[in-house]
Amino acid sequence: MKYIGIAASAGYAIQKVYKIDTISFEIKQVPIKSVALELQKLEKALKKARKDLTYLITKTKQLLGTSQSQIFEAHLQILDDIEIKNMTISRLNTEQICVESIYQDVTNHFARILETMDNPYMRERSADILDVQKRVLTYLLNKKPKDTYLIKDEVILVANDLTPSEMITLDKNFVKGIATNIGGKTSHSTIMARSLEIPAVVGLSNILDTVKDGDTLIVDGIDGIVIPNPSIPEIDEYKQKKDLLENKNVSLQVFKNAPSITKDNHEFLISANISSISELNHAVDNGAEGIGLFRTEFLFMERDTAPSEEEQFNIYKQVLKTFPNQNVLIRTIDFGGDKNVKYLHFPEEKNPFLGYRSLRYCLQDKKLFIIQLRALLRTTIYGKLCILFPMIATLEELRLAKKILSEVEFDLVSKGVTVKPYQIGMMVEIPAVAVLADKFAKEVDFFSIGTNDLIQYMFSADRMNPNVAYLYQPYHPALHRLIKNVIEAAHIEHKWVGLCGEIASDPYASLLVVGLGIDELSMTSSSILEIKKNLSKSSYNDLTILANSIIQDEETNIGVLEKLQNYFETSISDSL
Ligand code: PEP
Ligand code: MG
Repeated sequence: MKYIGIAASAGYAIQKVYKIDTISFEIKQVPIKSVALELQKLEKALKKARKDLTYLITKTKQLLGTSQSQIFEAHLQILDDIEIKNMTISRLNTEQICVESIYQDVTNHFARILETMDNPYMRERSADILDVQKRVLTYLLNKKPKDTYLIKDEVILVANDLTPSEMITLDKNFVKGIATNIGGKTSHSTIMARSLEIPAVVGLSNILDTVKDGDTLIVDGIDGIVIPNPSIPEIDEYKQKKDLLENKNVSLQVFKNAPSITKDNHEFLISANISSISELNHAVDNGAEGIGLFRTEFLFMERDTAPSEEEQFNIYKQVLKTFPNQNVLIRTIDFGGDKNVKYLHFPEEKNPFLGYRSLRYCLQDKKLFIIQLRALLRTTIYGKLCILFPMIATLEELRLAKKILSEVEFDLVSKGVTVKPYQIGMMVEIPAVAVLADKFAKEVDFFSIGTNDLIQYMFSADRMNPNVAYLYQPYHPALHRLIKNVIEAAHIEHKWVGLCGEIASDPYASLLVVGLGIDELSMTSSSILEIKKNLSKSSYNDLTILANSIIQDEETNIGVLEKLQNYFETSISDSL
């Protein structure tokens, strides 16, 4: 039996299932025979939890650095908290009921106290207590905790959903594939699976209930198929496909040092999208010609406090030093939507993608924004910094962001800090901006078109919701008329335009946007060589004619796709 979902991250995996589902605790108040026995049980559970946490601290330090391991250090302190322990022992003695019930009650009690405090830092500790509670109760009830960190075998993760912060912590040495009930092609977990090169199929509705731990599963991230407990011929078929894909990737290496150029000598750039410095080597290895999008909000996730100016400075400096002669687009924090930063306590909103987030937050609560801008400006001496503002909707927002930036610059320079020339640009991801691009183009150095959000907002379809995934229409003529408008508006002002949404790495849509005159495509590193190859076999002259006829004549997404596929089949043969 095959299940069809959304092809989220290319590649094939055949492995055993490891389910990440919520463990339910039904704890009854059972009378006990001996307090000593209950205490022994507790000590055993605490010991196992301590072992996990110590391992998690080492592992996070290795994978993500010291600051990210702080969460588990805090968990360790809670685990050994003397007040929790004393209250548990004293209530065991007086109430004579099972330790799991008492431990749950005591930890709930402390979590509630913290939850009511004014200090946001203390309120956040309440969630930590509940995390530790879950781990200890899991062991008290003789269950196994489901931490992605604790995986030590090669597996396919099956979950309802994986959040971007859970994705940060995945170890691709063990996680060979992903299959989830929900998610969309441009949700950030999906984007991260692509950058980690983990094959993934999302939006499978009910895969979590369909499979059990230890089942064999095939994940086909190219056609969006998963096959639980495949037959021998199915396994053989997929092993063959996997080998073919690996050979194809090896043969693409010849494009690594080749320039991005069409066969009739039209030049453009292909850069990499990254969300952490651990992806830099991968970008270099795939021949990226710069960084077209650094999603800095990921530096703020999966930790207890925001990174300091110094920490950020060192990270941005490393990116610039890796690409000293090429544009490095560092986007200011674009959190909110599906990218939650726990310690900022965003209010619950009915429509988070339309809400108080990203630059909207930064323009009102400027503290984090200013720290980030200071860190960024201090790195201008290392390369070609391009500061990119996300989620701009109006000219007033752009002007305010630029004003804050110039105040930060003035302050730094007056203190003797050198700030070298840099570029200021903005994401074009809200339709109002794309329509008014001629006005915006006069006030920035460059645009970067964010089609993930532009499509979401144009078609009013949540990018996370598989039920409306059909409205993610990357070839639709309405979208490309708007993109053409943006490119032309920028070129009239002699400004350049990049595109960093997921369509940049789509083999068909990339042909169309190059035909519309895009100057730079930025994408997950693993797609760079393939897209470079395709474009090197195309003629810019043909692509321009094709793109213009498409936006003139076509009416539907599928109509455009067919035309592009036809060009692809006739002009870009698959052989190298
Ligand atoms: C986009 O919206 O296209 C984009 C590149 O930004 P993000 O996916 O981070 O929203
Ligand atoms: Mg966006």
